[in-house]
Amino acid sequence: MKAGAVTPRQKDSARIVEMAVPSPGRGEVLVKVLEVGIDGTDMEINRGQYGEPPLGQNFLVLGHEALGEVENPGTTDFNKGELVVPLVRRPDSCINCRSGQSDMCLEGNYLECGIRGAHGFLREYLVEQPPFLIRVPAELRQVAVLAEPMSIATKGIDQAIEFHRRSANPVQVVLVLGAGPLGLLAMVLLRVQNFNTYTLDIVPKSSLKGQLVEAIGATYLDGGNSPIAELPGQIGNLDIIVEATGNSTVAFQAMSALGTNGVICLMGVSTGEKPLEICADCLNMQMVLGNKMIFGTVSSNRRHFEKAVQLLGEIERSWPGWLARLTTRRLSFGDFKDALHPTPDSIKTVIEIS
Ligand code: BGC
Ligand code: ZN
Repeated sequence: MKAGAVTPRQKDSARIVEMAVPSPGRGEVLVKVLEVGIDGTDMEINRGQYGEPPLGQNFLVLGHEALGEVENPGTTDFNKGELVVPLVRRPDSCINCRSGQSDMCLEGNYLECGIRGAHGFLREYLVEQPPFLIRVPAELRQVAVLAEPMSIATKGIDQAIEFHRRSANPVQVVLVLGAGPLGLLAMVLLRVQNFNTYTLDIVPKSSLKGQLVEAIGATYLDGGNSPIAELPGQIGNLDIIVEATGNSTVAFQAMSALGTNGVICLMGVSTGEKPLEICADCLNMQMVLGNKMIFGTVSSNRRHFEKAVQLLGEIERSWPGWLARLTTRRLSFGDFKDALHPTPDSIKTVIEIS
């Protein structure tokens, strides 16, 4: 079978490789991969900035956002033809991993399929154990490839809302920074829960991103006209900020703009080494006197995937067709390398495998 792979730490090494179709062992499921979504992490891996091959191998199959169909359920209780989404992280033996929270791993010996130490899903078939497969209802066929990034957004936002509950004032304003796939999924997740949500990016309001934001009752802010520092004066106390640009300068600007008793959720990874001069005393004082909280979030566990699938269903019912508009590019397997370079107007690229 074909697989889309890279040589980790080597720039632009993406290529199609041939692999044997895996054969399921006892209690395992053979899955036919239907679609794979590409994100910033895949692009970083192909730039040679991130990623590790499986132990003893010199290549890594990419792809950690997948939708598949059960080809052979073996002795499991899955049915042939059922839609499934595989989990990304594989646990080590730490207490959190053993408690179903590999996203909160303590030892750091977890694997991540398509990212770190385990092959990903950009291939025709894969074999999985049932604990690493999430069932997806057939009516979500068109959008379930978004379950993985949605699970990341779900984890971060659930925690931000929970942390904000330490003070009695309700969440009145939520600001999402970045209208990439993760920022847009975070926003729709907030809107389906009826939060008053603003999304800031640096493209014009008339762009597809701006239209997607406004189509579901959130407000689009063009960062060119609305600097982050001025937002509290314009839209009020920023109760929750979700940082989804991965730009560390933006993250620090957001910390200064965060409202009293506010919570900022950092979900954008920055792989560079950019220094920044800040007034450390000012930031420290603002944090203390304003009861502010900053937290980071990575990965997601089975619970977040299950909730993400349920939320995708609710979003489809609330705004039919909105989720499908996030996929601006569909490429065939043979053209997968084109997906690894960002294009200005594209939001999500999906590779069609079969
Ligand atoms: C993936 C996460 C992963 C993170 C860091 C993200 O792109 O969605 O599952 O934990 O990268 O490797
Ligand atoms: Zn662990």
